[in-house]
Amino acid sequence: MNTTLPRTTFPNGTSVPVLGQGTWHMGESPASRTDEVSSLRLGLDLGLTLIDTAEMYADGGAERVVGEAIAGRRDDAFIVSKVLPSNAARAKTLRACEDSLKRLGTDHIDLYLLHWRGGVPLSETVEAFERLQQDGKIRAWGVSNFDVDDMEEVEELAPGRMSTNQVLYNLSRRGIAFDLVPWCAERRVPIMAYSPLDEGRLLGNATLKRIAAAHGATVAQIALAFVLATPDVIAIPKTGRPDRIRENLAALDIRLTDEDNATLDAAFPPPSRKRPLEMI
Ligand code: NDP
Repeated sequence: MNTTLPRTTFPNGTSVPVLGQGTWHMGESPASRTDEVSSLRLGLDLGLTLIDTAEMYADGGAERVVGEAIAGRRDDAFIVSKVLPSNAARAKTLRACEDSLKRLGTDHIDLYLLHWRGGVPLSETVEAFERLQQDGKIRAWGVSNFDVDDMEEVEELAPGRMSTNQVLYNLSRRGIAFDLVPWCAERRVPIMAYSPLDEGRLLGNATLKRIAAAHGATVAQIALAFVLATPDVIAIPKTGRPDRIRENLAALDIRLTDEDNATLDAAFPPPSRKRPLEMI
């Protein structure tokens, strides 16, 4: 594994680079598959070892793309996948994990998340996660799209066991900075920031364009640099284009100045009170 990228550490002691690779919408079109696999492989070559996927994406198609990308090099990758709330009952979780393992072509998932909270009691899903971990099918587990009150519940059920919460976080979705980020920081639980480019919506922003020009950078790099500036936050931008893998990686070298941050705060105000968790 590449050890030169900045890293963060999960409560179980495993560390990962703070920039990873998303895969939503991969596996949807055969015409894009070669580029998607090449992007993920190039990312692995460059040290972007964390790959985020889910059984939901392209109905398992994204996991198959990941499986192709990691074939013959499983140990280069740290695979995150997610179980759907509709599969989160105990027996169904065990089965869903087996299905994901098959599509990924591996015998273990490094971090397995509940995609969002549904109707199944959390205790059942946690029990299944613990069982999967004991059986070596997953190395760690966590949640996604959980607000602070949900996090409190998990913590009460299984103190110190949850590895992460994967949530929406980018310049135009800063709500978690008010309460979830400090809650996680206090407990040393890294946050995974999804849609760090707001699914591409930030790319046309005029303020970001000005800051990018001043840094000789691209808008995507500035948007990523903002997310990456929050301690113990892992950003997982998705790109199916190899050229953009290098571009996104270079965001790690950008340091936003105090003046940049003041400009960003004016254009994208930080939360001054609790906001309900946003999700996509
Ligand atoms: P992102 O904010 O990562 O934006 C992805 C979009 O930006 C794509 O259209 C991509 O296009 C484009 N893009 C990427 N890099 C660049 C660049 N350098 N310049 C210009 N355009 C760029 O959105 P996502 O919603 O995909 O979020 C990232 C990942 O987070 C997902 O893929 C998924 O793994 C995870 N996620 C998790 C959720 C959850 O509920 N837990 C919900 C949503 C996402 P192209 O591919 O053509 O480069």
